[in-house]
Amino acid sequence: MNGENNRKRIAIFGSTGSIGTQALEVIASNPDLFSAEVLTAQNNDELLVEQALKFQPNIVVIGDESKYQKVKLALNTTDVKVFAGEKALEEVAALDCYDLMLAAIVGFAGLRPTLQAIDNGKAIALANKETLVVAGDIVMQRAVEKRVPIIPVDSEHSAIFQCLVGETRNRIEKIILTASGGPFLGKKPNFLVNVKRDHALQHPNWSMGAKISIDSATLMNKGLEMIEARWLFNLLPDQVQVVVHPQSIIHSMVQFEDGSIKAQMGLPDMKLPIQYAMAFPQRIPNDFPRYDFRKPNTLTFEEPDLKTFRNLALSIDALRKGGNLPCVMNAANELAVFAFLRNRIGFLDMTDLIERTMDKIPFIENPTLEDYYESDAEARQYAASLIHL
Ligand code: NAD
Ligand code: MG
Repeated sequence: MNGENNRKRIAIFGSTGSIGTQALEVIASNPDLFSAEVLTAQNNDELLVEQALKFQPNIVVIGDESKYQKVKLALNTTDVKVFAGEKALEEVAALDCYDLMLAAIVGFAGLRPTLQAIDNGKAIALANKETLVVAGDIVMQRAVEKRVPIIPVDSEHSAIFQCLVGETRNRIEKIILTASGGPFLGKKPNFLVNVKRDHALQHPNWSMGAKISIDSATLMNKGLEMIEARWLFNLLPDQVQVVVHPQSIIHSMVQFEDGSIKAQMGLPDMKLPIQYAMAFPQRIPNDFPRYDFRKPNTLTFEEPDLKTFRNLALSIDALRKGGNLPCVMNAANELAVFAFLRNRIGFLDMTDLIERTMDKIPFIENPTLEDYYESDAEARQYAASLIHL
């Protein structure tokens, strides 16, 4: 499966983001194990060029076509091939030049290239949770048909995946997703109503891209993760439980039918799940800081506040009802976060926008892929019309 010199050839879709840049750090630290074969970015042409000069990939793709000439010119003394535009992402995903796709694009935009990579028989290291929220049934079904492994990068799902190694024949009673609670843990609506973007972007334990940071502040991230987990591990909605654990040391847990609980632990550092997904089934050494049990630290657990953080309640509803509802919720949320980040709507308005969109778009019980694409577009259009975007 590996290419030249037995290095695993990685295609990083979304290489300029928080996950993408950390994945490149992992590659730089393990040059005998990995090479960066494909790098893609939407807007950040300068960082893409810098990455390409350093890692000498086979191909780069810049999403924003108006930046094609600039990238091409900057790389014209190298052998790096340059493509541009949304369609190019899918075309490159269909090539044979890589072994593993790291799906690190944010949002619905990650779905098509990831599906293409699966159809192409490529292993997927999945950071882009929205792919499974939108069309988890179809994505997982295709992965089974193509015998493609989907290895989670999301820290909670990586934790569960690691707990399940060697347990393939054993039934899961439930999984327990841990949530840090985000920057506004313990706050109430009278506080949240005044929250501004810069405050919401400050996460206590993780440094991440803007969209997931806001999702963490609203707890939508945990809702998306419940849906992601349901598909990844083939569970019923009620087998997925959330517990708030503000220290983020336990990354998630699996409870088996004998009542035994396995947890995966460590300091919060996304490079660990990224490296695990890239190297799976191997573990590779690193010099990341270690958790020290001798230092005083209390690990605590509490119920999430569903009355205050209503996005999580909406997600549980979408998880239970299924069909196109998670897709609709995701689209409305992407639009709500976009508007909040531009100071167009307030923190709590995001929830109202999502709820109204979920109520409005017609429910489809067994959607096709086309239905998902249409539901996504309809939901975005409707949500945008509500706030005159
Ligand atoms: P980010 O915003 O930092 O980076 C996103 C990347 O996707 C960038 O390279 C950007 O150029 C590209 N991109 C953005 N819009 C695009 C579009 N329309 N078409 C093509 N490419 C586009 O995001 P991130 O924090 O790295 O998160 C990436 C994904 O990983 C998200 O789905 C997120 O939920 C998930 N994730 C992130 C973290 C984290 O710590 N950052 C943890 C768990 C899961
Ligand atoms: Mg996570």
